[in-house]
Amino acid sequence: MNPMTEWLWHNGEIIPMDQARISPEDRGFQFADGVYEVIRFYRGKPFTLAQHLARLEKSAGAIQIKLPLALAALAGEIGKLIALSKLQDGMVYLQLTRGAAPRNHIYAADLKPTLLFHTRPLPPMPIPGEGEGARLLTVADERWKNCWIKSIALLPNILAKNAAVAAGFDEAAFIDNGMVTEGSSTNIFAVIGGKLVTHPVGSKVLPGITRLVLLEIAPALGIAVDEREFNEEEAQRADEMFITSTTRELTWVARWNDRYIGQGRCGNVTRRLHQAYQDRVRKEIAA
Ligand code: PMP
Repeated sequence: MNPMTEWLWHNGEIIPMDQARISPEDRGFQFADGVYEVIRFYRGKPFTLAQHLARLEKSAGAIQIKLPLALAALAGEIGKLIALSKLQDGMVYLQLTRGAAPRNHIYAADLKPTLLFHTRPLPPMPIPGEGEGARLLTVADERWKNCWIKSIALLPNILAKNAAVAAGFDEAAFIDNGMVTEGSSTNIFAVIGGKLVTHPVGSKVLPGITRLVLLEIAPALGIAVDEREFNEEEAQRADEMFITSTTRELTWVARWNDRYIGQGRCGNVTRRLHQAYQDRVRKEIAA
């Protein structure tokens, strides 16, 4: 087999990605009727896998899709695929849809879900505080009120991100009623008055796993956490800001619309948190 083959786990079978057959009537394809996860692995080992699978189970449960295999079995299958990929640093993209049926808004309870996942290489971790800071463009948050569900229906996120990139920015920052909720594919943190501030998860914010890990790490570094709403003006005047996600870990933010954050340099709190995050990754991977 070609060593460059990309493998796909599809309803229990592992096949070359280019041989996958998905029904045109899969509800994921027709209605975005499904949920997903992105899991990072380092040195061939998944990081915070249990947390990702717990979130998957919650998302699926929220839209009445039953996972076709137990979480422990799924974890084993993910491990197998990572090993087969022979990748050291990468991500697993996993998608669960309600399955295929003649197109109808109403779904039957007994559909066979479509579960698939594959790996992708990712570059190794960036050094905390190095590289370019992200430029954020504010965009009206026109998403639904169940953003805690990791739905594959990402059109508002896609449009926001593309608007940001077309205008010369890197990420969109959603604004809902004057409040900063999250990025198009990231959680947003601001350092305000020495505290780490981030919008609570729920209707407008995904419970990011990177966010979760940081909220555990920060108190151990003596950094107080304030999970609360904050408005655009507070964001503009923040001492530091960073965005988080599984694939990017922490990225420091240099610009907010046409203004610099923290004189356009990566701040100390951000650096310390990113260092501690990487230490946590190394510890979990070595365990
Ligand atoms: N918010 C949104 C809207 C996202 O799509 C993501 C990334 N999937 C995140 C936050 C970050 O979540 P995580 O740290 O679990 O990758």
